[in-house]
Amino acid sequence: MNSKLILNPEREKSLKRLHPWVFSKAVERIVNPPSNGGDINIYSNDGTFLARGSYSPNSQIRARIWTFDQNEKINTEFFISKIKKAAQRRQLLLEENSLSAFRMVDAESDELPGLIIDKYNEFLVLQIQSAGCEYHLNDITDALKKLYPECSIYERSDAAVRSKEGLELRKRVISGIEPPDEIEITENGGIKLLVDIKEGHKTGYYLDQRDNRRILGRFCRNKNVLNCFSYTGGFCLYALKGRAASVTNVDVSQPALDIAKKNIVINHLDPGRVRFIREDVFSFLRKEKKNGKQYDVIVLDPPKFAESRSQLDKACRGYKDINMIAASLLSPGGYLLTFSCSGHMTPDLFQKVVADAFLDAGRHGSIVQYLHQAEDHPVALPYPEALYLKGLVVRAD
Ligand code: SAH
Repeated sequence: MNSKLILNPEREKSLKRLHPWVFSKAVERIVNPPSNGGDINIYSNDGTFLARGSYSPNSQIRARIWTFDQNEKINTEFFISKIKKAAQRRQLLLEENSLSAFRMVDAESDELPGLIIDKYNEFLVLQIQSAGCEYHLNDITDALKKLYPECSIYERSDAAVRSKEGLELRKRVISGIEPPDEIEITENGGIKLLVDIKEGHKTGYYLDQRDNRRILGRFCRNKNVLNCFSYTGGFCLYALKGRAASVTNVDVSQPALDIAKKNIVINHLDPGRVRFIREDVFSFLRKEKKNGKQYDVIVLDPPKFAESRSQLDKACRGYKDINMIAASLLSPGGYLLTFSCSGHMTPDLFQKVVADAFLDAGRHGSIVQYLHQAEDHPVALPYPEALYLKGLVVRAD
């Protein structure tokens, strides 16, 4: 291989600090460009080898790093060793937290840029988000077949980010059997959940909220809980386990609410204490406010409001709006669990938005807990961008 990327001398620092991306502005020149996603060696301006990565001519992220070791080849063996390492990193979580579904490979944070592998029982669900992983897809699937011969592999490469890498959207069985419409997983030692791998959001479920769902339970005893953006009712199950008096779930997705109803039943929880409302959360909250309703505990777990930095201002207005109405609906001494999964929203900025929301609602509140994504979604130290999910538990006076 003699494809070479030579860095602009002013822009070498990030790679020397082991950050896994090379932006287009950092490229001085390319010699023998490979095809989309192909391997390329990256050199400093003085000709020193720095890393081997994948080339993405269509993306602002022009190269993603596979390895900083000049002797390492990018082949099936490479993926076997990286996937093994990622699985080992989760050993403690699996031992302690009896669960049957978790994120096994989390892309850049597991040194495999653009590769997501979620394991749901015997199904490995793959999401390819970079041209480099697309180029090495056979190596990746061969590695998985060797490491997990008992598992079926399903591909959910239907995330919109693929278009930035010049890739088409795709869903299919790669090997083994087709996943049934619903499979039952367990998390946190006993809560059962039905997951639709083929049609559900992301790879089927929001694994990243596992710890925060458990945390909700302790605030719920005898309380009236409002679960906004409920999806398949994950937070609702923990509220009921925590002996909530009632839980109101609001989501626009009927298929998600249908699964949520079944999740109550399979956990032998009381459906009489649960309401499911298919409605836009913004309009639902306004209506509740107008009607003078109050709740003791409110969960706000909206979808990503900012897909890019340019959408951040608009996203802040959206977060402030729902948090302000939620603050005004809280009963005295009530708790708000509020989240943002927009990577562009920093924890500081999110806290400020929530503070402004309480101020405008005329409520005083205190943060009693800072929350973030679960440990199978780690943040590699050279790659702080991996922190995307943050949450606050705010107690209202
Ligand atoms: N809390 C969930 C995950 C929520 S994901 C869990 O723990 O599993 C965000 C959810 O918001 C999705 O289910 C989506 O259908 C829903 N949604 C998106 N926009 C919405 C809106 N404006 N009103 C109501 N629901 C919305």
